[in-house]
Amino acid sequence: MYSKHLISVTALLLATAACSAEDSGDGSGGATGVGGQIGTGGLKAPTGGSGGSTSTTGGVATTGGTLSPTGGTTGGTPISGGAPSGGTPTTGGSSSTGGAPVAGGAPSGGSGGSIAGGPSGGGGASGGTPSSGGSGPAASFKCENLTLAPSTTGVAKPAGAAGGLKVLDWAGFKGAASFTFDDNTPSQMANYNALKATGGHVTWFVVGSWLSGSAGEVSKFKATLADNQEMGNHTYNHQSNGSQSDLQQAQDFIKTQFGVNANSMAAPNCAGAWAGVAPMVLFQNRGPCGGNVAAISPRDNTDPFQLPAYLPNTGESAANLSAQISAGKWRIYVIHGFDSQGGTYQPVPIASVTGAMSKAVMDGYWVEGMSAVGAYWQGQKLIPTSATTTATWTLPSKFPPNQCLRITTTGGTVTQKGMTIPWDDHGYYQISLDAGEVTVQ
Ligand SMILES: [Zn+2]
Repeated sequence: MYSKHLISVTALLLATAACSAEDSGDGSGGATGVGGQIGTGGLKAPTGGSGGSTSTTGGVATTGGTLSPTGGTTGGTPISGGAPSGGTPTTGGSSSTGGAPVAGGAPSGGSGGSIAGGPSGGGGASGGTPSSGGSGPAASFKCENLTLAPSTTGVAKPAGAAGGLKVLDWAGFKGAASFTFDDNTPSQMANYNALKATGGHVTWFVVGSWLSGSAGEVSKFKATLADNQEMGNHTYNHQSNGSQSDLQQAQDFIKTQFGVNANSMAAPNCAGAWAGVAPMVLFQNRGPCGGNVAAISPRDNTDPFQLPAYLPNTGESAANLSAQISAGKWRIYVIHGFDSQGGTYQPVPIASVTGAMSKAVMDGYWVEGMSAVGAYWQGQKLIPTSATTTATWTLPSKFPPNQCLRITTTGGTVTQKGMTIPWDDHGYYQISLDAGEVTVQ
């Protein structure tokens, strides 16, 4: 299964490179080399329950977007290749409530569910198979920003003294990379399958007026949301001097056309004027952009409304793109497309992009959309490093719902709002940011 899949990906990449004579020297090496190693990654069944099958992606297991210790409807959707039944535990708590999204974490599941079963729908061998009936309320909430998990599994629950609360950097990955694509240019959907096959997730920053009337393109972009790709706001009219009304118009357009709320924006032309407009509608903004901008560190003081993004040169190689990623940091990329159709700005060969994405996944980086990573980055800072057994917080304005953090402890039981949070054998507890508090006791 791995090899067939990888061969097809490699063939696609090579074909793409071959079709573009000017770029063939850049993209093929990195992409092909990466492809050959993906198989060493996601060896563990990424989904909960008996249906969990192999993952065809490297280095990343897919976990459920819903954290439900009672079984229920956790598990989520394999990125690709996973058995469709994965994530449907055969037993467990009340499935009618177990997976229900509960903002703020009202008790659900209750007596039937074991808190040991199927944390986050992942958990490899134990995922989705409650070992015993638990007692007391169990937490149930969505973790929409944590649909990817590190490939490590089988990590034992900390058994020492209660305390030692610590938020994992970058959701337990080596670092983070957000590949964002602007302007809904023609080559984006044309190359979507290659992007998806990397196992990473991306962000589309679409321009409302440029998509309006293109029902075909809208439906293609919309279909990618089922793969956990992100729809972002690149305004309605793509002006450098922005207005709240233009930003809101795009927000409304996205809601109407795609059925989702955009959480992040990307300033058109990376213009600085938008940094003051974005907070009125969204919780973060991308820009400035350039070839020499900083990557972001955990707990650093980067302005969430001026998130720096790396802008590749035309035709840049996979190796150059990969060189922008470093351990412990979050790199955001701004890319406009993969060929020059429609005057696409500074196109980068698809093989360069997929090569860099695949390598990042294989190397253990969190290749995820900008809002998911940004919510984690902002959320982590809400829990001070001095906290050991408890913390409380208030979410920033416009902060998206259903976002979570991954924490470890030295031992004890982790609760939120009186509900027990299950240990996930990828090596953490997933806690809800909506809950506003966490306790280790
Ligand atoms: Zn743009």
